[in-house]
Amino acid sequence: MAVQASAQKAKKVDAQVGKTWGRDRDVSFGTILISLGILVLSPLWVLYTYISCNGYNCAMSAPALEVYNSADHLAALKTLLIRELPRYSPYATRLFFSWLLFQAALYAFLPAKIGYGQRTPAGHLLPYKVNGLLAWTISHAVYAAGGLYFGWWNLSIIQENWGGLLIAANLYGYFLTFFSYFKAYTFPSHPADRKFSGSFIYDLLMGIEFNPRLGKLFDFKLFHNGRPGIVAWTMINLSFAAAQYQKIGYVTNSMILLNLLHATYVLDFFYNEDWYLRTIDIAHDHFGFYLAWGDSVWLPWMYTLQSHYLLRNTVDLTAAQFTFVFVVGFTGYFIFRSVNHQKDVVRSTNGECMIWGKPAKVIRTSFVTSDGKTHKSLLLCSGYWGLSRHFNYVGDLLISLAMCMTCGTKHLLPYFYIIYMAILLLHRIQRDHTRCRGKYGKYWEEYERIVPYKLIPYVY
Ligand code: NDP
Repeated sequence: MAVQASAQKAKKVDAQVGKTWGRDRDVSFGTILISLGILVLSPLWVLYTYISCNGYNCAMSAPALEVYNSADHLAALKTLLIRELPRYSPYATRLFFSWLLFQAALYAFLPAKIGYGQRTPAGHLLPYKVNGLLAWTISHAVYAAGGLYFGWWNLSIIQENWGGLLIAANLYGYFLTFFSYFKAYTFPSHPADRKFSGSFIYDLLMGIEFNPRLGKLFDFKLFHNGRPGIVAWTMINLSFAAAQYQKIGYVTNSMILLNLLHATYVLDFFYNEDWYLRTIDIAHDHFGFYLAWGDSVWLPWMYTLQSHYLLRNTVDLTAAQFTFVFVVGFTGYFIFRSVNHQKDVVRSTNGECMIWGKPAKVIRTSFVTSDGKTHKSLLLCSGYWGLSRHFNYVGDLLISLAMCMTCGTKHLLPYFYIIYMAILLLHRIQRDHTRCRGKYGKYWEEYERIVPYKLIPYVY
């Protein structure tokens, strides 16, 4: 009853706020069906890759072929599931929740710079605690000291408990999804920034609250995406590298290169955490299953598939292969960082800066928030942002490709990451353009006229 009353009250607020830019609120039947598909299929896909890696050395088709080639498909599937499904483990569950609490404590209590996000559709300019780099450093120092000096655990502890951790992460991911949904109705942090689509499924997937928080500064989005998700990324890789050392007596150059590429990406994220506050994750996405379960399960399990692969398949790159992958990866990183840096510089100097040796060309825009106030911003249309409207994604795709190429070309599974990133970023381009058209109107149309390409100049 209380939830229903609150839902009605919330819908009233929503109607008062009116239609502004920001996430869609009118969703079609097709969108709801796709949302249902994502809700059901993503956890199954994580499970499938887990089974492929654990039981079949990361051969993606092997579990499916085993069932397909048997006389009794159903019996074969049952046997496979009983044998291969991850098991609940009280120890792994304790490990996961201790990790989560440790990260929450670091986020809440470490000294932090205060950064600011983009103005929200309802007009808020929110402060964020920026202390990710320190949290990352302390977490890795504790992990290394506990494993190498104090002997509290093996460095391969994460790999050893991979199945049990998957169950624990799912428990938390689902809890967080439903908790966030309930919170949006009952005690929202910024009521006017909620979006109600009228579809339970869509709202559960894409979230209702824009910036759910506990207290003033414990931000769900920044915390869950950065830590435990991205801090865990490099630690998971190190754990798989340690397991490889125990298994074959050395760490392959492919594993070292993969660790290097991932660590560069992760450290860049934390070094530039203030910049991240003004990216689409924070400035556009609401907090639902997509981010709650995504940060708890999808990111740590799917983004580290290559290190699982390299543990099960020894890949020794030749010097030429190593150099090629290295060059592709770091060229991608250079593009990714330089493009993102140009946008940040031009915004922070209000366009009074040089881009590629010439004064920055910008479109000075204005936009209105749902509290009726008008704000000013600017769009850069020279430098990388004059080549295409999302040249930063080209850099990201090159790094992602290099990460996959560390695994050689024998199997498809390690290439899942680049396929996923390509789909994610192409879809993001569409979402972002819809949002920017809504936010900037004629100014965005002018930008589209000046910079007609979305991703690759003269191609797309
Ligand atoms: P962007 O950093 O490109 O941000 C897009 C926003 O920037 C727009 O919504 C608009 O927001 C503003 N903007 C657009 N055009 C201009 C312009 N010409 N001048 C100034 N501002 C402009 O996109 P993302 O947030 O998607 O990505 C950030 C980085 O993170 C990228 O490098 C991407 O590749 C990476 N990424 C990585 C992912 C991963 O899982 N590994 C997932 C997603 C992204 P406004 O005007 O409102 O500020």
